[in-house]
Amino acid sequence: MQFKNKTALITGSTSGIGLGIARAFAREGANVILNGFGDVTEIENLRAGIEQEFGVKARYDGADMSKPEAIEAMMGKALAEFGCIDILVNNAGIQHVAPIEEFPLAKWDAIIAINLSAAFHTIRLAFPAMKARKFGRIINVASAHALVASPFKSAYVAAKHGIAGLTKTVALEGAEYGVTANAICPGYVLTPLVQKQIPDTAKARGITEQQVIRDVLLAAQPTKQFVTVEQVAALGVYLASDAAGSTTGTIIPVDGGWTAH
Ligand code: NAD
Repeated sequence: MQFKNKTALITGSTSGIGLGIARAFAREGANVILNGFGDVTEIENLRAGIEQEFGVKARYDGADMSKPEAIEAMMGKALAEFGCIDILVNNAGIQHVAPIEEFPLAKWDAIIAINLSAAFHTIRLAFPAMKARKFGRIINVASAHALVASPFKSAYVAAKHGIAGLTKTVALEGAEYGVTANAICPGYVLTPLVQKQIPDTAKARGITEQQVIRDVLLAAQPTKQFVTVEQVAALGVYLASDAAGSTTGTIIPVDGGWTAH
């Protein structure tokens, strides 16, 4: 129960990696604030289930991470209830796969807003209370695409490289205040985000969906296995721990060896 009396806000935590991270923090005693889209009843079941299973407070805020005013309202509400967001996980993200000359403008704007600018907003709003308390853990869920590129993912790769730079900058600004900032860079994890891009990647490359899994996704990872949500969440728990107090400004791959070659 290393995070008892701490509060963790995880954006995009109604599904996939974010939900896994939220549950891992709750298991360690943190109160959690969930965020993201989805079916209202399913989200309420997730929220109530976390409270029941782990004996912590779990809240849900449906703020749209593409809207700065919605982010401000979410952060204001969280700070009013808990006083400080001790652990901030910027995880919400979307993907769109298309050649750059056909890339829809609205998709470019949405990906930059959700995958990059949202983290700027949550961090700037969480920072004052973290600095005042001399403790803060900022964990940005980036991607192997923060370190290397793939074709047809211009907006995503640009946003993820951007979040690597934001992570390093914030690490420097928080360094003397006990506030760390690190980025986790997963390889392919079989979540809805990846499942949804398989048909578009097949279309963009002119191959079948099975070939996308074998020759595009898992071909990138020397382990030839998907990374698991649990493996990513375990690194998140470590980065939020006291043991990680000197680990800041890092961009850490969890990618089955993808970025080693
Ligand atoms: P996912 O689709 O399962 O979950 C995304 C979450 O973000 C959901 O809760 C969704 O409701 C939420 N979300 C989407 N748009 C939102 C918005 N406008 N406002 C608020 N919430 C919003 O995807 P995932 O695979 O779990 O991805 C989570 C993060 O991990 C993303 O940042 C993604 O880029 C990153 N990532 C994923 C993989 C992978 O292979 N799955 C690899 C590397 C990085």
